[in-house]
Amino acid sequence: MTSFAERLIRWQKRHGRHDLPWQNTRDPYRVWLSEIMLQQTQVVTVIPYYQRFLARFPDFDALAAAPADDVMAHWSGLGYYARARNLHACAQAVVAGHGGGFPHDPATIATLPGIGRSTANAIAVFCFGARAPILDGNVKRLLSRHAGIEGWPGASAVESQSWRHAESLLPQAEVATYIQAQMDLGATICTRSKPKCGLCPVAADCVARRDSRTDELPTAKPRRKLPERETTMLVLIESGRVLLLPRPPTGIWGGLLSLPEVAAGRDAEKEAAHLGCRIVSQRLLAAVSHSFTHFRLTITPLLCEVRSADIAAEPGVRWLAAADLAQAALPAPIRKLLAVLLDQPIV
Ligand code: SF4
Repeated sequence: MTSFAERLIRWQKRHGRHDLPWQNTRDPYRVWLSEIMLQQTQVVTVIPYYQRFLARFPDFDALAAAPADDVMAHWSGLGYYARARNLHACAQAVVAGHGGGFPHDPATIATLPGIGRSTANAIAVFCFGARAPILDGNVKRLLSRHAGIEGWPGASAVESQSWRHAESLLPQAEVATYIQAQMDLGATICTRSKPKCGLCPVAADCVARRDSRTDELPTAKPRRKLPERETTMLVLIESGRVLLLPRPPTGIWGGLLSLPEVAAGRDAEKEAAHLGCRIVSQRLLAAVSHSFTHFRLTITPLLCEVRSADIAAEPGVRWLAAADLAQAALPAPIRKLLAVLLDQPIV
């Protein structure tokens, strides 16, 4: 059987992508810009951004001299804005530190802002003919499936193993075609879901395919258990209207309207009184849970029928009828809770 690299190179020449706007050039500015834009974004999304960016900032000098706001405006919509800040800083470092010339050596390229080892190697391969492997998300997936590499690719031991494996597969010649083949194969054939193994040039010795494990490789990131938080929220109802309070501008649901929480050291009566209400009857409802990025919140709703008491309520208190909730800026879990409680389609 011919080597992994030979099969990829042959496939690339017949089936790979050859006319993307950043191909067929060895200009490090264009290659670098495309590599950064493609880091977390798909090719079809990147193309119009790349062309607009290049028209406005045609080279390192133009980008380095541009105001930060202008750079961010041309990035706006691509997401992951640290990339744009690093891009600007990198252009300034290239102009200041290297007299406008881009370094050729992968290790030096990797010292520039926003450029990791894989991106540095890709630039060195495409622009300066280096012989170096890459290991972006697509290539990690391709290699872990083909070689049956176990473990989450982001774990340092697994990453080191993948780098060693990537080094061992490098061909002696046509490295740029080989690297482009890995990128294209990962993006179009060895896709995250439903890989097209029938069209793959390395299917014959692919471990994941042989063992029917394409769904399991690469191994998913281990899920850590989220810390738990609990709160009691008051659903204060008077004459069919529900009391809502604006959340503080920062923190969870910042600035949205939500149900009042029973603060530590208070009971429901005191909390209601603080909001200008007197509880007539109350009923504890089934708890609901919601996961945030860093914790899981369990909300116990306390449904209370109230009368507005003759005392000043906290500023910002809003009484909304069920019919007005659809237009209100509510967090999704609160909207869902109220929809069930008030038996209204407020989604
Ligand atoms: S055979 Fe399937 S799983 Fe294996 S490398 Fe090719 S596309 Fe990926």
